[in-house]
Parts: sequence; structure tokens; C-alpha cells
Amino acid sequence: MARLYDSRKRILVTGGAGFLGSHLIDRLLEQGHEVLCADNLFTGTKRNIDHLHSHPRFEFLRHDVTFPLYVEVDEIYNLACPASPVHYQHDPVATTKTSVHGAINMLGLAKRLKCRIFQASTSEVYGDPSVHPQPESYWGNVNPIGPRSCYDEGKRCAETLFFDYHRQHRLQIKVARIFNTYGPRMHHADGRVVSNFIVQALRGDPITIYGEGQQTRSFCFVDDLVEGFVRLMESEDDVTGPVNLGNPGEFTIRELAEKVLSKTGSRSRLIHEALPEDDPKQRQPDISVAKEKLCWQPSVALDEGLDRTIDYFRKLLPELAAA
Ligand code: NAD
Ligand code: UDP
Ligand code: UDP
Repeated sequence: MARLYDSRKRILVTGGAGFLGSHLIDRLLEQGHEVLCADNLFTGTKRNIDHLHSHPRFEFLRHDVTFPLYVEVDEIYNLACPASPVHYQHDPVATTKTSVHGAINMLGLAKRLKCRIFQASTSEVYGDPSVHPQPESYWGNVNPIGPRSCYDEGKRCAETLFFDYHRQHRLQIKVARIFNTYGPRMHHADGRVVSNFIVQALRGDPITIYGEGQQTRSFCFVDDLVEGFVRLMESEDDVTGPVNLGNPGEFTIRELAEKVLSKTGSRSRLIHEALPEDDPKQRQPDISVAKEKLCWQPSVALDEGLDRTIDYFRKLLPELAAA
């Protein structure tokens, strides 16, 4: 116990009421830390952190990261940003501001406090990649003026800011490039493929495959990802990233639809809808850097992770219907 107390930190998690942030907070509290969650509840929900309401080491602050924040903490995880195309395209200007002004404010905070700061970057910095799988050294193929650009370019600019604060102000930065992640507490209506397919299957609605369904994605279960976050934050000083975090198992969207159908026992039919503009055709992380520097690789297979996510939505949907 003494050791736990000695190593206790006060940690700020922005975007902590979201899908990934709430799982990260659970993990940090389990490790004995104090957590301050700052979130404007744009896409996150109090439901995700309800269970922490009376936790003595947890505090919630309703705050928009595009505004300055003056608090005292030992470490910062910057996750605040809408993450699914439906959400980030709802107010694209706000999305870019969240990534860019949010990064500047959190980096300014880290600079004043001389503390480590982690950035939730994304595989979207690779755009529609012409190199496959994607190593961190690949510079990407991003449309700067398309409907996804507010997210992709915002995250790219945030990475630039992180590396400039590192070079110019000697900040200790940790940049993770996160690939598609799924699991309990995903937003049921944010349009992401795993949540869409599961909700559609459970409700008996048609499963909407965009395009022919031959585009690929690699899906990482949330517990694996959070383990990667913590290992990156606790890595040696010289490990700045960017580090790809994701599951290299690659599936077509059609394969995913078929898996969800068979696991839920649903009789939903598959329908095809238009492929969104700039939708990347393939995506798979090269995780050699994470393996070497963090001794990390995912351990939850898609089949197991889908079962756990389906269980979550089976309980959630009746609650939503009753609310
Ligand atoms: P999410 O939408 O569930 O969580 C994002 C959180 O940020 C929400 O709670 C939201 O309310 C909050 N937020 C948004 N704008 C804010 C602002 N201006 N100020 C304060 N809070 C704000 O999404 P998520 O899947 O948990 O994603 C978390 C982070 O990880 C994001 O930065 C996202 O870009 C990144 N990421 C996620 C994935 C994924 O597959 N889930 C993949 C790549 C990157
Ligand atoms: N900032 C903050 N909290 C702090 C310190 C700074 O939110 O504890 C914000 C502040 O809005 C500032 C930004 O971070 O504009 C960048 O800080 P930095 O010190 O790099 O720049 P400067 O203050 O010189 O503009
Ligand atoms: N997709 C789909 N049906 C849906 C939702 C998404 O076919 O109901 C496709 C989408 O076109 C994309 C892939 O699934 O090719 C992953 O989409 P998501 O929005 O989850 O993530 P991202 O495109 O950001 O990787």
C-alpha cells in the first residue's frame, strides 16, 4: 500500500466522459491515482462516468478545451475531440478548434507545470493511405479541403504543435496514433461501423454497408488500447512517439457485418448505401514500434471483443428505449 500511495499522481484526462476516456479513467483510478476529468459533454455522456460519482479520487469538471485551463496536475492525457465522422462533421469548425486550440491550451498547461502530456492522435493522419500497412514513418495521403479534413488536419496540426513544444520548450510528449477501437460505452448513435452494425442487428433493422463493403479496417478492443496508453505514458523519456496503437487483424466491412449477424443471431438483412466521400479503402497498423518500445501488442481477438460489446448493447438498448 505504501508504494501505491508514494506513486499516486493527480492526472488530468480531457474528453474523459467519452468512450476511450472513461475506460482510461477506470484504469488510472484502479492504479491508485487521482483523476480530474475535463469534458464539455459534446459527445461524451455522464452515463459513462456515473459509476465514479462518489469515488473519492475522481473529480469532474465541465470544461471546453478551446478555453484556457488553470489547474495543478502531474500528468495530462489529451483526448478531447469528437471522433466519429457523424460527430466531427456536425460542426467542423468546432472540431478543428478543439484539436488545435485544445492542443495549444493543454500544451501551455503542461509547459507551466513541466509535466508529461499524452496526445490521442489518430490513424486518420495517414488519410487514404498508399502504403499498407501504415508505419509511423509514412507521411500520409490526406485531402486538406474535404469533409474529413477538419478532423484529419486538426489532428495533424496538433501533432505538429506537440513536436514543436517538445523541441522548443523541452516538453515531455507522448503521441499515440490510435486505429479504430471498439467496445462497451461506444456511443450508440455516432455512426461508427461497429456500434451501427450491432445496434442495427439487435433492433432487427437493415445492416448498412457503405459501398461494396470491400474496404478494410483493423479493430482494437478498448482494454488493449488503454493498456497501450498507460505503457506509452510510462515509457522512457526519449519515447515521444508517434506510436501506432491498434490491432493489426484486418477485416473487410462485409466480414464484420457477417460476424455481427451470426453472433447476435439477428435476421437483419444487409443493404448497401453510398460510400462516403474520402472514405479510406484500407487501414491496418504496423505496430513494430509499439512492440519494441512499449512491449505492447493487443491480446483480445475480434470475436471475443465483439461478444463483450454486443453484451453491452443488449443491456443498453432497453434502457435507452425506457428513458
Ligand atoms: P468520444 O466522442 O467518445 O470522446 C471524446 C470526448 O471529448 C467526449 O466526451 C466529448 O464530450 C469530449 N469533447 C469533445 N470536444 C470537446 C471540447 N471542445 N472540450 C472538452 N471536451 C470535448 O470519442 P473517443 O472514441 O473516446 O475518442 C477519444 C479520443 O481518441 C479522441 O481524441 C479521438 O480523436 C481519438 N481517437 C479515437 C479513435 C477510436 O476508434 N475510438 C480512433 C482514433 C483516435
Ligand atoms: N494555458 C492554459 N493553462 C496554463 C497555461 C497556459 O490553459 O496553465 C494556455 C493559455 O491560454 C496560453 C496557451 O496555453 O495561451 C499556450 O501557452 P504558452 O505558454 O505556450 O503560450 P503563451 O501564454 O505565451 O501564449
Ligand atoms: N461503414 C459502413 N456502414 C456503417 C458505418 C460505417 O459500411 O453503418 C463503413 C465506413 O464507410 C468505413 C468503415 O465502415 O469504410 C469504418 O467506418 P467508421 O466510421 O467506423 O470509421 P472510420 O471511417 O473513421 O475508420
